[in-house]
Amino acid sequence: MSLLSVIVPCYNEEENIPLFYEEFIKNQPFFEKRGLEFEILYVDDGSRDGTKEQIRLLHEKDKRVHMISFSRNFGKEAGLFAGFENAAGDYIVAMDADLQDPPSLLPEMFSYIDAGYDSVATRRVSRKGEPPIRSFFARCFYKLMHKISRTEIVDGARDYRLMTRQVVDAILSMKEYNRFTKGIYGWVGFETKWIEFENVERIKGETKWSFWKLLLYSLEGIMAFSTLPLSIAAFVGITFCIIAFVAMIFIIVRTLIWGDPVGGWPSLVCIITLIAGVQLFCIGIIGQYLAKTYMEVKGRPIYIVKEKL
Ligand code: UDP
Ligand code: MG
Repeated sequence: MSLLSVIVPCYNEEENIPLFYEEFIKNQPFFEKRGLEFEILYVDDGSRDGTKEQIRLLHEKDKRVHMISFSRNFGKEAGLFAGFENAAGDYIVAMDADLQDPPSLLPEMFSYIDAGYDSVATRRVSRKGEPPIRSFFARCFYKLMHKISRTEIVDGARDYRLMTRQVVDAILSMKEYNRFTKGIYGWVGFETKWIEFENVERIKGETKWSFWKLLLYSLEGIMAFSTLPLSIAAFVGITFCIIAFVAMIFIIVRTLIWGDPVGGWPSLVCIITLIAGVQLFCIGIIGQYLAKTYMEVKGRPIYIVKEKL
């Protein structure tokens, strides 16, 4: 018998907790055939609705259901990390509570694990049911990431992954505070099989990601897995130095030949403001990395547990 740990980060998902359990349990015949036990680790990410009570009810009914409850909302990344840290399984799978990661894919995923893959990842091939602007920016983000980062980050990839113990131990060895799990999965490597599925809309409740939150998250991803913005800042600085130097020579030569007619202050003002803007922009980029470094150096815990079941 081997053990499968299922990690389900939940933030205000009271309606989805029992629905997820029911849907997941449908795999029972497969688990029996495969010789698998399972444990479900619901990670309550500081929910303010009845999520905890729902998990407690399930725990009463089925002791294979566990809960890790945070002292406040720490974000999904922290939830996944806590799940990985507390999972006892030989295989570990991370799934959303809203059933957007269909548990019915598990038998197929296991078939690839049995064929020798270390991890089976999923990506959705459509984004139906999602606002078009959101899809558009998501696509742009993945294209950009592909260009600027050496770590493989796949468009449409979900956090839904079945992994062996070895892969999860590798993920756990990455202690960084700014966690961009999609990037971390790619960074640790291992043989990964990608399987595709049509997007499923969440059954109950609402998405926790506003457009603004997603934008900030994407910037976080870029900074966590690429230092290209820093190089761009340096490049822009050098370009402006060269332009300034050429302009200087041009002005000196012009003055020597044609004298020095007063004038040209509006253009001067434009140049000064432009350069000041570029400077502030570059300092801003450096500041962002510095801020991230500052947070890492503090070495704060990624999550704080209030209660465990
Ligand atoms: N989630 C979480 N903490 C948060 C936000 C979300 O644990 O701060 C969980 C949420 O309960 C769900 C999963 O992360 O199980 C994915 O969230 P959501 O469905 O809102 O994201 P989407 O599928 O819209 O990208
Ligand atoms: Mg969802």
